[in-house]
Amino acid sequence: MCADNATRPPATSHRPPVATLRERDAQVIASIGRLRFSPLSLIGGRGNRLIEEGGRELLDLSASFGPAILGYSHPAIAAAVNAATASMAGASLLAFPNENAVALAERLLAITPGEGERRVWFGHSGSDANDCALRVVQAATGRSRFISFIGSYHGNLSGSMSVSGHTAMTHTLPRAGLVLLPYPDPYRPSFSAEEVLKLLDYQFATSCPPHQVAAIFIEPLMSDAGVIVPPKGFLAAVQQRCRRHGIQVIVDEVKAGLARSGRLHCFEHEALEPDLVVFGKGLGGGLPLSALIGPRAIMDHAPAFALQTTAGNPVATAAGLAVLRTIAAEDLSERAARVGQALAGALRALAPRQPMIGEVRGRGLAIGIELVSDRATREPVPVATTAKVIYRAWQLGAVLFYVGLRGNVLELTPPLTLTEAEAEHGVAIIDQALTDVGRGLVADADVAPFMMW
Ligand SMILES: *Cc1c(COP(=O)(O)O)cnc(C)c1O
Repeated sequence: MCADNATRPPATSHRPPVATLRERDAQVIASIGRLRFSPLSLIGGRGNRLIEEGGRELLDLSASFGPAILGYSHPAIAAAVNAATASMAGASLLAFPNENAVALAERLLAITPGEGERRVWFGHSGSDANDCALRVVQAATGRSRFISFIGSYHGNLSGSMSVSGHTAMTHTLPRAGLVLLPYPDPYRPSFSAEEVLKLLDYQFATSCPPHQVAAIFIEPLMSDAGVIVPPKGFLAAVQQRCRRHGIQVIVDEVKAGLARSGRLHCFEHEALEPDLVVFGKGLGGGLPLSALIGPRAIMDHAPAFALQTTAGNPVATAAGLAVLRTIAAEDLSERAARVGQALAGALRALAPRQPMIGEVRGRGLAIGIELVSDRATREPVPVATTAKVIYRAWQLGAVLFYVGLRGNVLELTPPLTLTEAEAEHGVAIIDQALTDVGRGLVADADVAPFMMW
């Protein structure tokens, strides 16, 4: 103590400036686990707003990729989590059933269409649920090959990453035997739906005998590849071909599921009848929670096959129950359809005076704005331009991210509680940001640290 006093600087001397949260983040958080789209660093959240260091509130059009499905301080989640935390937060579903996990599994089975006897597995993230699906389907069917789509994102664990086809994941090799099919993109029709189906038939007839294939992973709306809505009937035709050969259809609802698309399940738009369904992100309302639903014959493959000590814990599953209850009570599917339509319509209305807007597309409150440097040729803008729009939107008070195989798609996945007034405010900010970036208001140096993938 005495030594401290002796070395303490006199009151008049200049103290070193206090490091900002952003600076401290850069010093300690590993790059391998971060994506930074703007200088935003957070000290709080309220409704559909994020509060940054310094106290400014920003409209959140991202829901932090989707988990903030009900915004950031929803009373239903806070109450459910507080009650569960005050009781038996540490209890493990591996060892004991708990009311919240069992009730959530019952609820998920009740709201998810499917045939025959089914079971639910809980995890912490979309990644672990897709990993679990891959491992258990392989073990239960005795088949070891999988099919997925170029551009798909199923997670960042060894298994889920190995069946992902996103261009940002090419640092890691796909698993042996994986067949990656193009996902037909109506705006950039390198491959039509018919051509992809023909390619699949050709694979089955030649180098990929269908009896070797355990399952296909399908995103019913491809999010990270650029919010791509598949051509009508395409996924149903893929499903039909897989069914013929006993190939399991695994539908990844992690991002577009649970009311975001304007229906409770995004696969309902595509007439899919999944064998297995994966939920994540919004399911936990911000708490780490994922779920895999599948046929009992697969999900009961072997005891002690997919164990995670805190998976299905009473706190995360309490949050999951609160999310599902709120979706039903507030009819958030209908709301996502309605507010999403208004939001997409208002964004489309900007196109005549915003030459960068190539297309606005999506379902419900999963909306993509594809930015082009030439509307006629559909040449994508450079990723730096997309990053500048995000940066300018942050300056103007809104939070959004970008996706796309060329990094040129603004992604809007706001909380489903977004109001119409907030949607309008968001459109005004995006409008202004596009104008300002077009005028060269944001410098390359501003966004150099924020071009992520
Ligand atoms: C985000 C995402 C995942 C992975 O979920 P994490 O919670 O990040 O592990 C899987 N599938 C899709 C479609 C996603 O968008």
